[in-house]
Amino acid sequence: MPKLPDATSRLILRVAIAVPLYRLFDYLAPTDVDVHSLASGMRLEVPFGTGKKIAFLIEVSQHSEIALEKLKPIVRILDDKPLLSAKDIHLLHWASDYYHHPLGEVFNAAFPVSLRQGKVARIQPQQCYALTELGKAATSEQLKRSAKQQAVLGYFQSHYPANLTETELTDWDKNWRPAVKALLAKSLLTQTLSEKFYISQHTAGNVRAIKTPDETIHDNASNLQLNTEQQAAITAVINSLGKFAVFLLEGITGSGKTEVYMQVIQTVLERGQQVLVLVPEINLTPQLEQRFRQRFSVAMTLSHSNLTDKQRHTAWLNMQQGSSAILLGTRSALFTPLKKPGLIILDEEHDASFKQQEGFRFSARDVAIMRGKLLNIPVLLGSATPSLESSHNANQQRYQHLILSQRAGNAVEPTLHLLDIRNKKLHHGLSETLVSEIRKILEIGEQVLIFLNRRGFAPTLICHGCGWVARCRHCDANMVIHNYENLLRCHHCGREQRLLPTCPACKTGELTPLGLGTERIEDALRDLFPDKALVRLDRDTTQRKGSLERYLTQINNGEANIILGTQMLAKGHHFPNVTLVAIVDVDSGLFSIDYHATERLAQMIIQVSGRAGRAEKPGKVILQTRHPDHTLLNTLIREGYSHFAQIALAERKEAALPPFSYHALLRAQAGNPNLPLAFLQAAATIAKTYKTDHTQILGPVSAPMEKRAGLFRYQLLFQSNKRSDLQKCLNELIANIDSITHVKKIRWSLDVDPVDLF
Ligand code: ADP
Ligand code: ZN
Ligand code: ZN
Repeated sequence: MPKLPDATSRLILRVAIAVPLYRLFDYLAPTDVDVHSLASGMRLEVPFGTGKKIAFLIEVSQHSEIALEKLKPIVRILDDKPLLSAKDIHLLHWASDYYHHPLGEVFNAAFPVSLRQGKVARIQPQQCYALTELGKAATSEQLKRSAKQQAVLGYFQSHYPANLTETELTDWDKNWRPAVKALLAKSLLTQTLSEKFYISQHTAGNVRAIKTPDETIHDNASNLQLNTEQQAAITAVINSLGKFAVFLLEGITGSGKTEVYMQVIQTVLERGQQVLVLVPEINLTPQLEQRFRQRFSVAMTLSHSNLTDKQRHTAWLNMQQGSSAILLGTRSALFTPLKKPGLIILDEEHDASFKQQEGFRFSARDVAIMRGKLLNIPVLLGSATPSLESSHNANQQRYQHLILSQRAGNAVEPTLHLLDIRNKKLHHGLSETLVSEIRKILEIGEQVLIFLNRRGFAPTLICHGCGWVARCRHCDANMVIHNYENLLRCHHCGREQRLLPTCPACKTGELTPLGLGTERIEDALRDLFPDKALVRLDRDTTQRKGSLERYLTQINNGEANIILGTQMLAKGHHFPNVTLVAIVDVDSGLFSIDYHATERLAQMIIQVSGRAGRAEKPGKVILQTRHPDHTLLNTLIREGYSHFAQIALAERKEAALPPFSYHALLRAQAGNPNLPLAFLQAAATIAKTYKTDHTQILGPVSAPMEKRAGLFRYQLLFQSNKRSDLQKCLNELIANIDSITHVKKIRWSLDVDPVDLF
């Protein structure tokens, strides 16, 4: 807050509002306001247009560029003090500058919907449940007539001595109420209204080991014998607690990264501090949540897009007020305030979903690192397949590189094999060799995992007679055949139509599917192995709530012999009985025009392979390819991911691509193709007057998919070897962008550090 104006003049409140405008707004403070009670970050309600909006106070001033009589007074002040710390507010300013995104929208992203709408920042006290003495001693034998009651009792016992809130129970199992009621009636559980406070309200400021009511933080402490690499990783991070450092924990799948996280987290909890753990998608990794809940009895909060507004409100305030110790969340949880921040962990740091792809296009990884720096706490990035950016930062010793090179326990690493399918007979994309390998595994009762990153039956419907192809009217894309639903669907705009009986062009030709999708592989496998149980996991089969969980249980109970699916399979699951992984088609990722594609392909291959042989049985991975001599594939398979990463980095360096230069992409689209093109040309002209020789402006060119959902898309690429130079140029461009003619008729966005060029 700047120097305080004297009391006689009317104060100006400069605020940020969540509108897509690059400016702040001035209002008059109430005449009776005590200036000392104002602080930057407080929420206000202000008149805006014909209605009212919630605004964030940025600064108090005596002067406005606007005539005083034109300024309106605010409606009211919502908070007695800011809900975010000064450091977190600093972070939002930084992110707004770095991503060239309006400050009001950046502030908005840091708050849950309820608080954005002006709700009071208070949590309703929750009902809690705890074991009674009787409950502690109870055995599942006593409850043998109700499996559900057994499960609930077991859950409480595994969390003892902590009590559990309604939210925690609902996170665990939506249908907990009847069983809890029955256990209350049997006096095995008792009910209280008391919230458990993780961080003592009395000792704010000084760190001490603050414990749950029964003075224990963990009840299921690990009895594992850590290997030396794990031990070294844990020690390195623990030694950095209380100061800023970034660690890249690179460990092959199954090497015990999660165990490292958990042991570090335990130390952070003992220091009375909180931990923010970010993961790509919570619903795809229920196992991580379970392991955390088993290990730690402190309050843990989940935050992801499937929560209701009320749940998000509670989750956010739980962390802000220190009543929860661990936040497990996705990208959007990054800005959640922490009363006593201790550590930030990003699991699967390479995952593209950490980058927001619309609106405020921030990278949760990069902002997390800045947050760690501002909060003075360590940031731990973990992955089996680190991004090239992070590998580069580790090479440059900006990050400390921690390596886990062995699988933990007795698990062995899978072996990868390229299977040349040139000139081989294929049965719906499956070669005879692959089919016989699958048969061998199924015969000995083990599981097979089959990966194809394309859903639907086939990506193309073509006329055998005249060559006509079913295209989407609104996109530069083919319609995908969905046989089960008997329709054609565009995967880019969602347009659907019935499957055609005959060719609309020549009226006589036979229509045939071309290419492979998971539905087609499913049909082929059901034909080949009619008596085996198959589970298909892709977006089409897991849309209904709870279906993914059901399939995962089925797989883990051994009720599925064949698991077939898309990239959903690559993420975090443990399938201990899978001993053969087949990647049906690696070639589609080999020749993309986007330079990120090879990195993605390598990560995908290694991640999918990592599902095999997780237990004591060795696993085998077969990759079908028509390019068995491809350098990338061979490096990856023979020498492993980190070797591949070094070679890929050398190629990026040679081509001066990121991370050896900095990119920003200005995209524009409109129904009329001339408009975005003219807009980008004008933008390029403006930008050229502000850039130096460090920065190049490439384009405008049409996007790789020029037309999508009826809009024509073009883009302008900025490439620079000096970040500050690029930032200055973009600042000037944004400041002048509204002067471009027809700017209101197009939609544009600026993407700093884009993760794809589409
Ligand atoms: P990652 O997160 O790297 O995939 P996990 O932490 O999930 O690996 O570990 C894989 C499996 O190995 C888990 O079942 C875990 O409990 C076990 N594990 C981890 N560390 C050890 C160890 N030092 N000794 C024995 N088993 C371990
Ligand atoms: Zn035809
Ligand atoms: Zn379409």
